[in-house]
Amino acid sequence: MSNDRIVGIDLGTTNSLVAFMQGENPVVIPGEDGSNLVPSVVALDEHHQIIVGNAARKYLIETPERSVYSIKRLMGRGMEDIQEELKLFPFRLAEDMQVGEVLRIQLGHQAFTPPEISAFILRQLKRNAERFFNAPVVKAVITVPAYFNDAQRQATKDAGRIAGLEVLRLVNEPTAASLAYGLDKKQNGIVAVYDFGGGTFDISILKLHDGIFEVIATNGDTHLGGDDIDNLLIRIALDDIRGDMGNDLSRNGEAVATIRQAVIEAKIALSTQPAIKLDVELPDGGRYQREITREQFEQLIQPVIDRTVAPCKQALKDAGLKPEHIDEVVLVGGSTRIPKVRALVEEMFKRKPHTDLNPDEVVALGAAVQATILGGGSEATQNMLLLDVTPLSLGIEVAGGVTDKIILRNSTIPASATQYYTTQIDGQANVAIHVLQGERELATDCRSLARFDLRGIPPMTAGMPRIEVKFLIDANGILHVSAREQRSGKEAEIEVQPSYGLTDEQVESMILDSFDYAEEDFRRRQVIEAGNEAGTILAALEKGKQSPAWGKLTSDEKKKISKLEKALNEVRNEDDYASIRKAIDALNQGTMRLAELMMDSAVSSALKGKTMDEADMGEAPMAGHPVAKADFE
Ligand code: ADP
Ligand code: MG
Repeated sequence: MSNDRIVGIDLGTTNSLVAFMQGENPVVIPGEDGSNLVPSVVALDEHHQIIVGNAARKYLIETPERSVYSIKRLMGRGMEDIQEELKLFPFRLAEDMQVGEVLRIQLGHQAFTPPEISAFILRQLKRNAERFFNAPVVKAVITVPAYFNDAQRQATKDAGRIAGLEVLRLVNEPTAASLAYGLDKKQNGIVAVYDFGGGTFDISILKLHDGIFEVIATNGDTHLGGDDIDNLLIRIALDDIRGDMGNDLSRNGEAVATIRQAVIEAKIALSTQPAIKLDVELPDGGRYQREITREQFEQLIQPVIDRTVAPCKQALKDAGLKPEHIDEVVLVGGSTRIPKVRALVEEMFKRKPHTDLNPDEVVALGAAVQATILGGGSEATQNMLLLDVTPLSLGIEVAGGVTDKIILRNSTIPASATQYYTTQIDGQANVAIHVLQGERELATDCRSLARFDLRGIPPMTAGMPRIEVKFLIDANGILHVSAREQRSGKEAEIEVQPSYGLTDEQVESMILDSFDYAEEDFRRRQVIEAGNEAGTILAALEKGKQSPAWGKLTSDEKKKISKLEKALNEVRNEDDYASIRKAIDALNQGTMRLAELMMDSAVSSALKGKTMDEADMGEAPMAGHPVAKADFE
């Protein structure tokens, strides 16, 4: 096969996997050691070589200062948001790290950013795939939790790039799991994805419409997972050992590690056996034995698994749904192999969950399905791409609080569009770009997505700067907005994820509102725009009066203009479009000769918004004024 084979990657907190489509079925590609799961552990060995996966695990105990796990927790995050993680996990920040700097993790004598560490894991997966195919692998789809924000998504893409992978798309983990089960073929329905992994619990409610998944609610606990179960079992073992043998091993790292290994094996065995015998050879030569029945185990873990209930209820509530509305339940994460967990899920959602696929592989398998879709797979999947649209219009706020749409709703993504704007005030040095989402005409009725300023525009007459605003929604649904003043080259940009945190119902109601208010919105917009126009023409007239051309008018002409000016000033702030329009037209008519005279004279016409000597304008830097709609092309 050709070397443009696309793989699907689950870059997990505890374990990572790579899968590909073999004919009709996705399959996981094993590593050299034969195991499908690559533990997300990275270590530096004594020869300063990077070690990843199972082979790296022993370093966690032997040389913790040269190893790291759970790096996904730090992806795309800043110092401010990781205090909790630093308390709970042994992350060692680089010694020379300054406040406000990008995070770096110390591994021996070297320091790496979280995307660089994730890239080591990705590189290992890439190598496994290349060994399997005996050909290069460069294209990949990588999964991310549905709740990942832009920064976390961007960090994941960076990791891919660093690992030499072209990341064709990031896919939400619950969406991937649903794809693995082929639920997209059902066309419509509600899917609950219950993901109970090693250290995190996520519940996602997806709405499937016409084969497209939309995340309508997410919830969970970033510090709840199989690790908590392991810790309970370790505690029991340590208590037993202290009680029976009078030996406190809780501070003996090697002993705890040995016990951890044993209880994890016991936990896994208990998912299929009614009882197991724990038999641990302790490093000090002692031996610990104990029988645990499944019943005892279930009693012990009940409080842990009960903690998944509240997030599920909240997610349902946020989605505005009852358990009866759920059509499909998908289990994800190694910890959902526990029969008691399955029973709890079934009870909560009143429905048997899908269990045919391995829960710790299902996300990677779905990523492989998505990879094939992007590779131009079947006819059905082609449709899927076409149906990937932006549900609401995107634009910016312009002078007067009006929304100017740049990308219209239902545009196929990726999509891009450019519009030109200018300033409203002479000498305006900064313009505020307020990114909006929604169908309504006024900014206050739309959803505010982001704000940023384009700063440092050199002093120019209002209307002179040429500000290019570019919107781009990439294939991952991330919106990139850039603004560039073309005469000075000043630019600024921002990225947002428009769909984040919006439920389907909210999208729906935003669209419906725009119909309900269409007429009123249109009228309000007309009034505001006419008011803006009045402001521009009155300001221009003010300048005209200072110009030599004014002196050339007869006193009758001047009197007439002043009368028209007064008339416009009287109505410009009224809520009456027709009168403002009439007064503007009258003043335009009345100042025609003045405009001509100004044009003739050496002074350029401010009335026509053409060039003007910048020297006599003075400094009037204005911050936070929205851009104005430009009439140049
Ligand atoms: P993540 O998505 O967080 O990377 P996984 O989905 O791979 O993690 O889940 C890892 C967790 O699943 C670990 O805590 C592991 O001990 C647990 N696990 C794996 N298999 C079983 C099993 N048969 N029974 C109980 N727990 C299991
Ligand atoms: Mg996972």
